[in-house]
Amino acid sequence: MRDMPISIQHHYSLLKHNTFAMDVKAKQFISYKSVDELIEVLNTLRKCGERILHIGSGSNLLFTKDFEGTVLHSDIKFIEEVSRDDQHILFRVGSGMVWDDFCAQMARDNYYGSENLSYIPGEVGASAIQNIGAYGVEVESIIHEVETIEVATGLPRVFQTNECEYDYRDSIFKNNLRGQYIVTAVVFRLSLIPKVNLDYGPLQAFKSQEGVPTAKAIRDAVIDIRRSKLPEPSVLGSAGSFFKNPVIPVEAYQEIAATYADVPHYMVDDRHIKIPAAWLIEQCGWKGKQHGGAAVYEKQPLILVNMGNATPDDIIELAALIEQSVKEKFKIQLHPEVNYI
Ligand SMILES: Cc1cc2nc3c(=O)[nH]c(=O)nc-3n(C[C@H](O)[C@H](O)[C@H](O)COP(=O)(O)OP(=O)(O)OC[C@H]3O[C@@H](n4cnc5c(N)ncnc54)[C@H](O)[C@@H]3O)c2cc1C
Repeated sequence: MRDMPISIQHHYSLLKHNTFAMDVKAKQFISYKSVDELIEVLNTLRKCGERILHIGSGSNLLFTKDFEGTVLHSDIKFIEEVSRDDQHILFRVGSGMVWDDFCAQMARDNYYGSENLSYIPGEVGASAIQNIGAYGVEVESIIHEVETIEVATGLPRVFQTNECEYDYRDSIFKNNLRGQYIVTAVVFRLSLIPKVNLDYGPLQAFKSQEGVPTAKAIRDAVIDIRRSKLPEPSVLGSAGSFFKNPVIPVEAYQEIAATYADVPHYMVDDRHIKIPAAWLIEQCGWKGKQHGGAAVYEKQPLILVNMGNATPDDIIELAALIEQSVKEKFKIQLHPEVNYI
């Protein structure tokens, strides 16, 4: 027996559920607290043929209009130790946990693996969909398995990491299985022995210090860097990096490098090179530029921001104009990292 009825809201404003701060409405909004509640909700929605969108904290979404269906949100919150051996410790974490609350707990107890991913907005369920990444680490490196419920049947399915087809900000849940599974919990595998990634610029300072830094020291440094570079969603609406960094053939890179000798680049494999989308956008003169109520963030041109009164169209148009000028100048097609809804 449930203590409290499932929370259902009608004609519900999603303003507080998306970090771009788009003032759109959902026909219905349901927040559930357990897997059983989710299955009950799905059974009911299936009978009405209702359109479903599952969200976390909306930090990678661009709502382009009102959502004529049911928006689901997980309020499943727990962190429990599953097992440990000499080297690793496994934690099972509810999908509705705030991602950074999990990172804070891991760093506090000096378990290594999540510290570089500190302060990324969003919830644990979405982390496994998005394969979040920062400062040389992607979450797939610490995911052990992903617990889900199939939308069509209400049946549970556990995905092992190698079944999730993780790639750069990508997974099977964003492609072949898009919208078909809801993540209810993720099992993470942290390291009990120091295992650090300090290759990213400002974190390299740790390399000249004696001994291995604690997970907490790395987390604190990451938070400082992020606070200095990225807009705080509560102050300035955004969805983080708007575009993915394009991966191009070596020949295309060489063509650009012939004109721009200083083009930043990272080898992906023998034949492909990744170019920072921020550099391309800046070269096209977009840094700090405004379009209606939307703008290109002055400190980091990969981020589009809501100056306070942006409409979805302002952001869609600005993104399209940026794509067009990067295409014209560099013959590179940018692709959004943000999910358009
Ligand atoms: C200022 C800022 C900085 C950012 N920095 C980074 C960064 O450094 N690295 C990075 O990778 N990302 C970054 N992001 C993007 C964002 O934080 C991540 O993509 C995050 O994982 C989104 O989590 P969310 O809970 O807000 O998910 P949402 O944006 O609500 O949803 C994202 C996707 O996941 C799906 N989804 C959500 N929950 C579930 C669930 N339980 N089951 C099934 N599907 C679900 C949604 O349908 C949607 O497709 C940043 C965003 C902002 C605003």
